[in-house]
Amino acid sequence: MDPEILEDWDRRLRGLLVAVCLLFAVLFLRLFHLQITTAADYAKESEDNRIAQRRVKAPRGLIVDRDDEVLARNRASYSISLIRGSTEDDARSVAALEEAIGEPVSYSRRSASVRLKRDVDFQTVALVEERLRGDGFPLHVDIEPQRDYPYGELTAHIIGYMGELREEEAASATGRYLLGDYVGKTGLEKVYEDSLRGVDGVSYVEMDARLRIKDEHPFPDREQAPIPGHDLRLTLDLDIQRAAAQAMPDTLAGSVVAIDARTGAVLAMVSHPSFDPNVFVSYRAQDERRQIVQDSHRPLLNRAVSGLYPPGSTLKLVGAVAALEAGITDTLSTFEACAGSLQVGDVVFRCNNRDGHGELNLLDATASSCNIYFNHLALILGIETWHEYGRRFGFGISTGIDLDPEEQPGLLPDRQYHIEREGWVTGHLMNLVIGQGYMLVTPLQVARYAAALGNGGVLVTPHFYGEAPPTQQIEGVSPETWETVRLGMHRVVYGENGTGRRARVAGIEVAGKSGTAQGPRTNDDAWFVAFAPYDDPQIAVAVVVEDGGGGGATAAPVAGAVIRAYLEDQARRQQAVSAETLQTPEPGS
Ligand SMILES: [Zn+2]
Repeated sequence: MDPEILEDWDRRLRGLLVAVCLLFAVLFLRLFHLQITTAADYAKESEDNRIAQRRVKAPRGLIVDRDDEVLARNRASYSISLIRGSTEDDARSVAALEEAIGEPVSYSRRSASVRLKRDVDFQTVALVEERLRGDGFPLHVDIEPQRDYPYGELTAHIIGYMGELREEEAASATGRYLLGDYVGKTGLEKVYEDSLRGVDGVSYVEMDARLRIKDEHPFPDREQAPIPGHDLRLTLDLDIQRAAAQAMPDTLAGSVVAIDARTGAVLAMVSHPSFDPNVFVSYRAQDERRQIVQDSHRPLLNRAVSGLYPPGSTLKLVGAVAALEAGITDTLSTFEACAGSLQVGDVVFRCNNRDGHGELNLLDATASSCNIYFNHLALILGIETWHEYGRRFGFGISTGIDLDPEEQPGLLPDRQYHIEREGWVTGHLMNLVIGQGYMLVTPLQVARYAAALGNGGVLVTPHFYGEAPPTQQIEGVSPETWETVRLGMHRVVYGENGTGRRARVAGIEVAGKSGTAQGPRTNDDAWFVAFAPYDDPQIAVAVVVEDGGGGGATAAPVAGAVIRAYLEDQARRQQAVSAETLQTPEPGS
C-alpha cells in the first residue's frame, strides 16, 4: 500500500480512538454520578410514588387602613386531602371519609395530592386524625391560610373578596396557580392580587408502601420556603368610614365618598346596602352566598363607582363656571325674576319653589338652588360650551381609581347624543344644566368634582394605595370664577336661604351644594356635595341617598357627619403628635 495512504489511515484511527475515549469518559462520569451521588434519591423515587411534592402556600399580604387597623387578614383553615394511590385505594379512602362525616365528597384525581374537603371544622379534623388515619387511610389534614375580613360589611366593597380560581380564569392567570386556588375576585383583593399573593414554596413528604407518611421532611435542602405577599396600607380611614356608614339612613340605598381634596386619597367609600364578604371565602356558607347574589337590593353593587345617578342640582356649578367664563353672568347681574316656572316654546320648566324665588344673582341662585335662574343661563350658554366644561370636570370619563374594572364612566350627553335619539331641542340643555335629562354620574365622580370646586380647579385621581397620581389643573377658568363659585357654595350652608344648612359642623367651615334628582325611583334621590375647611379645603364629600327626597334634608346631615369625623380624626392625630413631642427627652437632659 502507498505509505502515504497508510499514514493517512493511521491518523484517522488515532483521531477516532481519542473520540471514543472521550465518549467513554463522559459516559463513565454520568454513570458514576447516577449510581453513587444520587443513588439514595433514586432508590426512594423509583418505588412507586413514595415521595410526594407538596406546595407550601405563601401567606397573603394584609390589608390595613391608614392607621394600621387590619381590614383583611389570614386565619388558619383546615382541609382534608388524600395522597393518591391506586384507583381502588382512593375510592376506599373517599368512601371512608364520606361515611365518617356523613357528607358526599367530590374530587378529581389530577395531582399526587387531592383536596377532598376544604375549611372543615375541628370535629372533622379530629375524625380524620384519630380514626381514619389510624385505620391506615392515606388522608391528611392541611392547614391553609383562609382570608378573613374582621370589619365585614363595613369595608366589603373596597376590599372585595376572594374566591376559587375558575377554569377559564386559570388560562389567563399569570402562572403559579392551580385550579381550586383562591384569588382576589373583586375590589382591592383583585386589583392588587399580584403583590398580595407572594410566592409559594415547595416541600416533600415520604411515605411507606401503605402510603402512610414516614417522613415530613425527607429533603430539607431541596425545600423552598414561601415568600410572603406584600401588605397594603390604604389611604382609607376606618373611623371616617364608620361615621359615614352610620350616618346613612338604615333603610335606604346609597353611597358616601370622602376624598382628600388635595391628593385624591380616598378616606371613606360607603355603598349601602352592603354584604359580609366572609361568606364568599367560606365553604360553609353556600346558602348565605346565594341569598346575597339574588338579593333585589343588589348589595354586591359598589354604588360609589358603579352606581349611575342623575346628579340633580349639585351639577349646577358646571353651568355657573361656564357662564362666568363666558361672561354671561357675574356676581351682581340677574335674569328675569323667578316666578316658579318658565315657559320655553310649549314646555314649562318648574322651579323647586312653586311660589318663585324672585330676582336673584348667581350667589343667591346657588344658595337657594333656583332652577329658573340656571334655565335662563342655559338659554344663552348653549350645549357646546356647557358640555365642554362638564368634560373638564371629568364627567363622562372614569376617574381612574384603583378599583378598575368596576368603575363606570357615567354619561355626559352632547348635542350629537340627543340627535341620534329623539333629536335636539333646547329643552334638553334646560334639563342638563340642573343635572337632569340623560346625565349620569357616579358618586366618586361627584366627590372629585366637589374637590375641584373647593381647591381652585385641581382635578385629582382618587386612589386607595400608593403615591398620589399627578393632579391636573382645569384650564381656562380664572381664579375669580373659582372664588365666586366657592362663595356661592358657602352661602348654601350659611346663607339665610341656604339649602345645605344641615351640613354645618361646629369647629369647621363647610361649603356645599344640595341636589334633589328625579330618577327611576318613587321618590327623588337626595344629594349633597361638600368641601371643608372653606379656607383650605382638605376633605371633599359626595353623598347620595336613593329615594331620600330632599338633598338638604336627607343628604346634607350625612356629609356633615363625615366632615365631623374627619375633624375629630385630625384632632386625635395632632394630640398623638404633641404627646410624642412631649415624650421626646430634651437635648442634654
Ligand atoms: Zn326659582
